[in-house]
Amino acid sequence: MASTYQGRRSGGSRRSSGGKGGRGKGGRGARTVAVRRTAPLVREPVTLPSVLTLGELAEKLETTGVEVIKELMKLGMMATINQQIDYATAARVAQALGWETNEEESALAGEGDNFETRRIEAEADPEAKARPPVVTIMGHVDHGKTKLLDSIRSANVAEGEAGGITQHIGAYQVDTQGRKITFLDTPGHEAFTAMRARGAQATDVAVLVVAADDGVMPTTREAVAHIKSAQVPMVVAINKIDLPTANPDRIKQQLSEIEVMPEEWGGDVPFVEVSAREKLGLDDLLEVITLVADVNELKANPHKPASGVVVEAKVDRTRGPVATLLVQSGTLNPRDAVVAGATWGRVKAMFDDRGRKIRRAEPSTPVEILGLLEAPQAGDTFTVFEDEKMAREVAERRAAQRRAESLTADRSFKLTDLSHEVSEGGIAELRVIIKADVSGSLGAIQSSLLKLNEEVPEGVQLSITYAGTGAIGESDVSLAVATRSIIIGFNVRPDVAAKRAADATGVDIRFYNIIYHLLDEVKAAMTGLLAPVYHDQTDGYAEVRETFRLPGGDVAAGLYVLDGKINRNSRVRVLRSGTVMHEGTVKSLKRFKDDVREVAAGYECGIGLDGYNDLQTGDQLEFFHREEVARA
Ligand code: GDP
Repeated sequence: MASTYQGRRSGGSRRSSGGKGGRGKGGRGARTVAVRRTAPLVREPVTLPSVLTLGELAEKLETTGVEVIKELMKLGMMATINQQIDYATAARVAQALGWETNEEESALAGEGDNFETRRIEAEADPEAKARPPVVTIMGHVDHGKTKLLDSIRSANVAEGEAGGITQHIGAYQVDTQGRKITFLDTPGHEAFTAMRARGAQATDVAVLVVAADDGVMPTTREAVAHIKSAQVPMVVAINKIDLPTANPDRIKQQLSEIEVMPEEWGGDVPFVEVSAREKLGLDDLLEVITLVADVNELKANPHKPASGVVVEAKVDRTRGPVATLLVQSGTLNPRDAVVAGATWGRVKAMFDDRGRKIRRAEPSTPVEILGLLEAPQAGDTFTVFEDEKMAREVAERRAAQRRAESLTADRSFKLTDLSHEVSEGGIAELRVIIKADVSGSLGAIQSSLLKLNEEVPEGVQLSITYAGTGAIGESDVSLAVATRSIIIGFNVRPDVAAKRAADATGVDIRFYNIIYHLLDEVKAAMTGLLAPVYHDQTDGYAEVRETFRLPGGDVAAGLYVLDGKINRNSRVRVLRSGTVMHEGTVKSLKRFKDDVREVAAGYECGIGLDGYNDLQTGDQLEFFHREEVARA
């Protein structure tokens, strides 16, 4: 696809005219001439995606490809009209032509790259061709995800096939009745959320596995929340039907209660009964997946430089950085200059999921590549650039941007952001994840929160991304990042891992133990009137290793400090399985026989609490102080 300026026709008009009929022909030329100027104008800022071709940029800037190429040359870059550039480069060109720019949210928030937007995009591309579906398997632990992936693979790889030794590269492709299906074989939704949090989405069809002898479990519900918020079509595989205790109807009943309604009951979710162990129903499952894929008319254009997502990456001692890429559009070839996340390199060699060397990888093909300078991160997107120099520059700029971002933190949504949006007169949606100690309060909170929608002005909407009982875990935080939700904890606290993840990503977690405080604050945020808030700042976590009774009858505990440091003046919460048992102050803090002011992570100490004598081995103590946070 080497192209010169004449390429404008195909590159520039591809998206908007869709190549259909003569609509694009005359109109375009006239429009571009009229506005070709570089003087600053008073106009709306233009929104640009994270990667686009020069043709697309020219169109957005209402100018010609030649102008854009000229500006790029002034910046020291040579490029053709079909070449892709990243947002930062596009923004510089746009500024030179008198435009202000915004980066499209979708690439950052993970919300925009949903199934629907990609489908619409592919549809508008006249060169798009049918491509295999990409499937992720999700579900509760031990429900048989791994077994199902293994069985599908072994049943569909012809034995004795040349080089038929299967490799684990993070994804594989099977043939079923002449059709291909790609499976991402990191089961569970960690990979799925990690990708969404980075703005990528690889999955076309999600298979939810539920063991017929066990039923809907917490992770099943979480997986449903993930799938629904990503708007990915779902297929339910009821697994382990070989067991005498299997009860598929009960599973259907339970799933229909969380709005996963079987087709046979008038819903829109196909259910298939399988046994991963006995290899029963696997062909049915593959057939249903193909049908779902057909309904959604999955397409991509193979005739352009490849782009897609990183499925897995590592540094191999002998081979260097190795990455598994899933091509989502275009075709990947050896020697291509690839930018993946914040690293880049030329493809030295490409292998398929059976370790065979291949020379081209079309849309939906997973491929292992050598040649990147470093290992990117799973979930990073990748793009092929025609020009090696540009690839290097883009990678370097991204690396710098990531460093800067890790310093200034986060793009996560805050309750105060909502007030801001509301007072600016924007339409705002507040998405919340609710975790509560018991299901009784959970139900009450859910329904009262949804009722707020009727009490607040139009243009503000609250929706519940996920609600569940138990401690706030790491997966709640990753769901919050992926969906730009805030987390509300009612009588529950995050565990150490979740706290770390929230600190790293800036997810807003709010804690309450009185429902009307919770409702007041959320309502205030929704009406744009959020009062100054007090935030609990965690100082450290410790774990009770042993307890002993003091002569006076009080109970003291031997602690090990897990994280941060604990202070004599801190307030303290006693957590048992994530539930708050007590909140109060420290009576005594000792190391050996001495009173101390603070104890850091990695050390042991003794503690007594004011008015609380029920400490138990295994309790976690959270030490914190209260700060007033300035309104945004
Ligand atoms: P994962 O945690 O969801 O990946 O679950 P695994 O694939 O590791 O399976 C958990 C356990 O269930 C293993 O002991 C499997 O052998 C067993 N298992 C998986 N599928 C089936 C099945 O169809 N029937 C029966 N009886 N056992 C199964």
